[in-house]
Amino acid sequence: MLDFRVLAAAGDVLALRGEVDIPRIADENAQVEQLSPIETRLVATKEHEVCRVEGELRTSLRYQCSRCLDSYESLLETPFDESFTNAPGHEDAHVVEGNAVELDPYIEETVNLALEYRPLCRESCQGLCPVCGCNLNHETCNCDRQARDPRWAALEDLLSDDKPE
Ligand SMILES: [Zn+2]
Ligand SMILES: [Zn+2]
Repeated sequence: MLDFRVLAAAGDVLALRGEVDIPRIADENAQVEQLSPIETRLVATKEHEVCRVEGELRTSLRYQCSRCLDSYESLLETPFDESFTNAPGHEDAHVVEGNAVELDPYIEETVNLALEYRPLCRESCQGLCPVCGCNLNHETCNCDRQARDPRWAALEDLLSDDKPE
């Protein structure tokens, strides 16, 4: 929460450092298993009725790898830069009512946009064996992964019989 009167009383420059917990981010993003509270390293400044809040958001999270389904830790750092005003006539600022703005929805949106949508535990993740399902990063199996689905194989054999030489 940023109160414009508190900002004015502070001489129009105010550091906003703290933590916000937004569990909904993990709830709404299936690839995010867990999200720590988000650390805010922001500074609010006011100029010509517009309050600008900029800085950085940081958090740590656990993603589920989109290839092997293992979970792994990752750090997220993303810039934050939003402007607010309660006076009309400022096109590039969010217009808010009253003397305060709740920053959490903007923080949530910024973090959502910074998430990875197809996270990989590592660039070279080997994924799961499509035959037996074992995690090929940790295990080896003797499956023939080139094997065709038997139903398709039967169909292909049928069709190939009809082909002219
Ligand atoms: Zn993986
Ligand atoms: Zn296998």
